[in-house]
Amino acid sequence: MKKKLFIILFLIIIISLSFLLKKNTKKEINPFQEFPFYKEHLQQEYEEYQKQNNYSFKKTVINVNIGINKPFYTNSSPAKYLNTNYILVNKYNYLSKDYIPNNLVNVNSSGIRLVKEAYDSFKDMANNAKKENLNLRIISAYRSFEYQNNLYNKYLQKDPQDKVDTYSARPGYSEHQTGLSIDIDNKNIDYNKFHLTKEYTWMQNNAYKYGFILRYPLGKEVITGYQYESWHYRYVGKKIAKEIHDLNTTFEEYYYEFIDI
Ligand SMILES: [Zn+2]
Repeated sequence: MKKKLFIILFLIIIISLSFLLKKNTKKEINPFQEFPFYKEHLQQEYEEYQKQNNYSFKKTVINVNIGINKPFYTNSSPAKYLNTNYILVNKYNYLSKDYIPNNLVNVNSSGIRLVKEAYDSFKDMANNAKKENLNLRIISAYRSFEYQNNLYNKYLQKDPQDKVDTYSARPGYSEHQTGLSIDIDNKNIDYNKFHLTKEYTWMQNNAYKYGFILRYPLGKEVITGYQYESWHYRYVGKKIAKEIHDLNTTFEEYYYEFIDI
C-alpha cells in the first residue's frame, strides 16, 4: 500500500515537473528574435504593433524598425551612413542643416547639382534611352537645407500642413539633400504626368540597371510617407537597385532588412 502511494506521488511530481519545464521553454521562444534585424529595445513595440495589426513576425519587426508604428516626424533620428549610396533620409531619419554631400557636380549648365557617381550613371542611362528615341532630363537634384526650407514654407502658404506633408519634405528630411535623388521629365510633358510617358515604362524596366530606383511607388505611401511620384528616382548603386527591383520592395523595407542590422 505504501509502495503504491509512493509511485503515485512520484508520477505526480514527474508530470508537474515536465509541465512546468514545457511552459518555461515556451516562454523563452521569442518569435521576433529569430531575425538578424531584430532590435532588443523595440521588443515591446513589436508586441504592441502585432496586437494591433495581424502581420507576420517578419513584417512586424521590419515595420517597427522603420518606425511605421509611430506617426511621421514624431520619432526621428539623425541619418546614418552619410556620404554612402545607401543613406536613408525619410520622415524618421534627417540630415543636419549643414550636411552637404561630397562630390557634388554640375548637371550640364543648368545649375542643378548631383553626386558624381549618380550623375555619371544617369548620363549612361540617358544615353542608352536616347538610342531608343527617349529623353530623360533631370529637372531637380541636390537641394540644400535652406532651399528645402523655403520650398516647404512656400507650400504652407497654399495648403494645410497635413496636405503639404504628403508631397513635400520638411527641411532636413528631404532625400534631395543627399544629392542622390533626381526628379526627371521627358522634356515634353509636365513632370507630374511622367507616368504617362514611354520614358516612364522604359525606366520601370531599366532604371535599376543603372543603380536607380523609383523611390515613392504607388500603394506604398504608408511606408515611404509620400504620395506616388513617378518622376522621383534615387541612386542606390547597381547592386542594391537590382535587389530592390527583384524583391519588388521599397528602400525602407530593404534598408531595415539588409542594411541597418
Ligand atoms: Zn523629388
